[in-house]
Amino acid sequence: MSTSLLYHAFGIRGYDYVKTEYTEGRVIFTIRQRPHTYRCSACGTRQVAPRGHQERTFHAVPIGGKPVAVVLPIPRVACPTCGVIRQVPLNFADSRRSYTRTFERYALELSRLMTIQDVAEHLQVSWDTIKDIQKRYLEERFRKPRLGKLKQIAIDEIAIGKGHRYLTVVLNLETGAVVFVGDGKGADALDPFWRRLKAARTKVEAVATDMSAAYIQAIRDHLGDAVHVFDHFHVIKLFNEKLSDFRRELHREATDKMHKDVLKGTRWLLLKNPENLDPRRKDRERLEEALRMNQPLATVYYLKEDLRQIWEQPDKETAARVLDDWIRRAEASCIKMLQKFASTVALHRRGILAYYDSPISTGPLEGTNNKIQTMKRQAYGFRDQDFFKLKILAIHEAKYALVG
Ligand SMILES: [Zn+2]
Repeated sequence: MSTSLLYHAFGIRGYDYVKTEYTEGRVIFTIRQRPHTYRCSACGTRQVAPRGHQERTFHAVPIGGKPVAVVLPIPRVACPTCGVIRQVPLNFADSRRSYTRTFERYALELSRLMTIQDVAEHLQVSWDTIKDIQKRYLEERFRKPRLGKLKQIAIDEIAIGKGHRYLTVVLNLETGAVVFVGDGKGADALDPFWRRLKAARTKVEAVATDMSAAYIQAIRDHLGDAVHVFDHFHVIKLFNEKLSDFRRELHREATDKMHKDVLKGTRWLLLKNPENLDPRRKDRERLEEALRMNQPLATVYYLKEDLRQIWEQPDKETAARVLDDWIRRAEASCIKMLQKFASTVALHRRGILAYYDSPISTGPLEGTNNKIQTMKRQAYGFRDQDFFKLKILAIHEAKYALVG
């Protein structure tokens, strides 16, 4: 084989070709380093004396379906400057790895189209080898996202698997990029993020979160000048949870069978947005019957519909009136659940209306969360939490995203 083929196909330059063997379906090239190119890997001097070899085998890119290995007796040299014996440096591979750099690049290319398992099988190396290649690449590219230009962010926690494991994710709302993944949930999970923001002197203008006290405090402490918007999906979701509890309670308390039957199975009808009611299944008729038979349920249901209107107004002033009117009606309803929710809304009034200063939400994080859940179903997320977090940081960049 010619030395130019060694270079162009396998990325190996400056070595002599010695021989080719074919064993057990593998192609094995042996190469040799020319003695006049020996140098010390620490100080670089060529004034070194040969001290034997250590033979190493590297995975190289395959030829067709055949795996290829490159065998090199790596020269050992005595360096008078350093006063030690060591290996000469390699230019086609990292001496700590068992594969060449072109092999590594090829594995990464394949990883954009195939799962780790597929790539490992195709290249006939272990799953861990491919995972390590991916991990180092992701580390280099995504470990420390640039935060300097961050302006609008959304923060939310996502549940990972069983046992209530959580990760806290920060999304750049302008680019859709995940810029931080913290362990656990609550304020502590964000500490490293605040430190990085501070170091980058970032001026975040607006942040969307749910209404939890932990976020309120953390954002007051660390993003005092930013507009803090309480995400409207979370407000509606919270109301829906209370509505579900309320319906369950009514169902439990209902004494006559007919009443019980009408309430039964209405949970999803109550939670659905009216425009999504299915005419084929007579959703609307069933819902209306349940509401007709149960005045408190009807009150709660219609106030849910009105709650959504807070975010549909032409300006902040009108929205404030709609919100205050909602609070008054909920308070006047004599339904405990509504009165409690009214005080929650009143307490968070400013952050709810802040939507009109900065119309952001954590909605885009939902999409990211869905992708994370898909990734999670593949086992690697649990074997190596660090790798999983890197994959999340890379998730938005389809161009760089690597398949499981
Ligand atoms: Zn040296």
